[in-house]
Amino acid sequence: MKINAMLSYGAEEFVQEEILLGEIDCDEVLVKIKAVGICHTDIASTKSIYPFTYPVVLGHEGAGVVERVGSDVKHIIPGDHVVLIYSFCNSCENCLAGKPYICDEFYRLNTTGYSKSHTKKRLTLKNGEEVSNFFGQSSFAEYSIVSQQSLVKIDKDVPLEYLGPLACGIMTGFGSVIEKLKPNGGDSIAVFGCGAVGLSAIIASKIIGCAEIIAIDVNDSKLEFAKKFGATKTINSLKQNLIQEVQNIVSKGVHHVVESTGNPTIIQNALDITRLSGKVVVLSAVKKGLEVSVDFKSIQSERTLMGTIMGSVNPHTFIPRLIDWYKQGKLPLEELITFYKLEEINEAVNDLNEGKIVKAVLTI
Ligand SMILES: [Zn+2]
Ligand SMILES: [Zn+2]
Repeated sequence: MKINAMLSYGAEEFVQEEILLGEIDCDEVLVKIKAVGICHTDIASTKSIYPFTYPVVLGHEGAGVVERVGSDVKHIIPGDHVVLIYSFCNSCENCLAGKPYICDEFYRLNTTGYSKSHTKKRLTLKNGEEVSNFFGQSSFAEYSIVSQQSLVKIDKDVPLEYLGPLACGIMTGFGSVIEKLKPNGGDSIAVFGCGAVGLSAIIASKIIGCAEIIAIDVNDSKLEFAKKFGATKTINSLKQNLIQEVQNIVSKGVHHVVESTGNPTIIQNALDITRLSGKVVVLSAVKKGLEVSVDFKSIQSERTLMGTIMGSVNPHTFIPRLIDWYKQGKLPLEELITFYKLEEINEAVNDLNEGKIVKAVLTI
């Protein structure tokens, strides 16, 4: 079928084009995309951080309505509201243990341009040239074909257009705090980078009851957002002395740090502001081969430096928890999200890069 999509050819700007989408397999579902979030990973993926070839249809925070299901699909029917998550094999040891975020096939299924059961790419240009798939969904488009296990069914009384970002940026920020760092109420936490993921970590820290939530960024407008969403203190690390400022707030250093900028030079800073036995979690999508050097002593002093993929949570159980927090008014999606039309993607990316907005969602 012919669909409208925003393509990336590896340049800064996305290009609108009519392309062709193949047929669903027996275990797949055709979803009419209603809204899709733009994640930093989409923007970074216009610059060859992954092995797929261009052109590609990016987009991995889709939400939509089921249009058609394959013959083997269970529990999902046409008309269902769904959030689209990343692709996973559903049969390796980690998937069977309920940890699809560390699926043995995660990298191949999500970043090499092929869709799940296919050695062939699913999308094609009108001239027959293949288009890469992204994260098993390629949702910067009118329609998407998704494996049944990569759909989370949503109650119809929740506004669907707000929910796509729950599948990546917001889940990653929340999971990094709640599942990875596991702070106790009253603990202190610092968050480097106040984009959507960092702000989600700040909101989660507030829900847990952290006493000090220190937001660190180089952009004052992002620090203003951080204050609005729960940061108790903010530090502009370009203008202020980071270590000194943190010491003024918590003399021994913080219990926990979330590093969401992907800048390797920040890792040592993150360890330096962490107290003995404190924990640092890093969560950015970065290019393979990016090296980090740290003072051996800072790790040896019982500190933990760890990573997370997608917040180390199972989306099938965690996205419903996020929706509960949204319904309770603790996760203010309306205040985080700014809507644009799908065709306005380039404008949305500009506004994100300039720090004018927190989270862009494209509607279709
Ligand atoms: Zn993402
Ligand atoms: Zn797997």
